Amino acid sequence: MPQTNEREVVTVGILALQGAFAEHQVMLQKLSLKRKVVIVLIRQPEDLDKCDALIIPGGESTTIALLARLAGLLEPLREFLKAKPVWGTCAGAILLARAVAGAKRGGQELLGGISVAVERNGFGSQVESFEAPLEVDGLRESNRAFHGIFIRAPVVMSLDPTPTDPPIQIISRISTSLLPEGQTAVPDDEDDTDPRDPRTIVALRQGLHLLTTFHPELTKDDRFHEYFIRECVLPTLSRASSPAA
Ligand code: GLN
Repeated sequence: MPQTNEREVVTVGILALQGAFAEHQVMLQKLSLKRKVVIVLIRQPEDLDKCDALIIPGGESTTIALLARLAGLLEPLREFLKAKPVWGTCAGAILLARAVAGAKRGGQELLGGISVAVERNGFGSQVESFEAPLEVDGLRESNRAFHGIFIRAPVVMSLDPTPTDPPIQIISRISTSLLPEGQTAVPDDEDDTDPRDPRTIVALRQGLHLLTTFHPELTKDDRFHEYFIRECVLPTLSRASSPAA
């Protein structure tokens, strides 16, 4: 009798406390992959146990953090991040950052996991919400622009990897013309080989994780969801299932 390889299934959790989790769910359901994608909406710590990867949606980062604390999820999420791929979109990106400026009074709890500092609502009132065509490295049909939807999005202010952190790979930037005027960015490290403004970064990877300051789940374009599964999630499964040396 043929054995079912459980690795033909990939289980993706979506943090479902507040925000655009249903939109991520719809996108994942529509993906056409060789692997079957099982979706788990995460509302309590046990839900994470079954997951190979996690998506943290856009919404309101302070509210998501507060609800995560009430659900006893903050520490389990931090542990999950140490071992498995996580993708944060917009508010989710804020939660994945190591530091945040512009937090609400009383502060903002973060999960950390990606060594960047972001500023909440950093595009300022002029361009607080906007749309822009994006070039993204590694996306399927990458010569076709991805429609970036930015809603009170965070701005990446600096990349701060420690010597032991995995390298950061920038996969998409916007034009400096979209940045708010008069804002002072924290300069990159002096020896940073990319001299361009960190505030133009809108998508990056570090280690297993993916961060986008915009909302791929609000488009009809599934390429970012496919990218996350292909680039961040599946490689961890094949490592896990390969026989020990
Ligand atoms: N400005 C929101 C926050 O700080 C994020 C907005 C979004 O996710 N669209 O959490």
